[in-house]
Amino acid sequence: MPKIELENLPKRHVPKREQQRWSNKIATPVEAFFFRHRKKLILVHGFMFVFFVVALAVPLYLDIPTENDTPWNNFTLFANYAMWGLWFPLVFLSVVFTGRSWCGILCPMGAATEIANKKGLKLKIPLWLQWEGTPIVSFLLVTIWGQTLGVRDHPFSMAVVFGGTMALAIVVGYVYGRSKRAWCRHMCPYWFIVRNIFPTRCCAIYTKEKEIWW
Ligand code: SF4
Repeated sequence: MPKIELENLPKRHVPKREQQRWSNKIATPVEAFFFRHRKKLILVHGFMFVFFVVALAVPLYLDIPTENDTPWNNFTLFANYAMWGLWFPLVFLSVVFTGRSWCGILCPMGAATEIANKKGLKLKIPLWLQWEGTPIVSFLLVTIWGQTLGVRDHPFSMAVVFGGTMALAIVVGYVYGRSKRAWCRHMCPYWFIVRNIFPTRCCAIYTKEKEIWW
């Protein structure tokens, strides 16, 4: 594989005034690394997807944790910690330090919707999905749904809410968009939170033919 020089990388789509931010200076070499190894990303995506499914499904078959259990000796607590103690902080931290590296590299939902899109119908993204209020509605629905079911405390509720959200991401990816993550752009409730907490703009890597992140 020919060596890719940093300066030959496709331009990152970051507004000029934000290019001087220290977070963007960190993001550039990280992007360069993953751009060089982009063909291996599918392995990371596959691992994250399997981990996501295992973290949701296995606790359904385990006993309820006792007071003495911890995330290090009880898988149900570990899965809960992975979802709430790692996933969300990592999304936020990735935005601060490395642009949207979580979304492009590690997020199992983003990867699943992208893979579904490759095999999917690729229909034009409808106006209702492009409506700027859609992520707000999505965020509110998932939050209310999660709170109603007690998503933080019950493995079954966590499986229903996260699994349902994953299923919806796959369906939206399968039906809409052409080489775009329609789910991520227009419906992801997690990204809606991040986007409104941090003013940092998202980053993207483009090849000559098409986007490889989004
Ligand atoms: S926008 Fe949401 S679903 Fe898409 S990659 Fe980011 S966190 Fe994952």
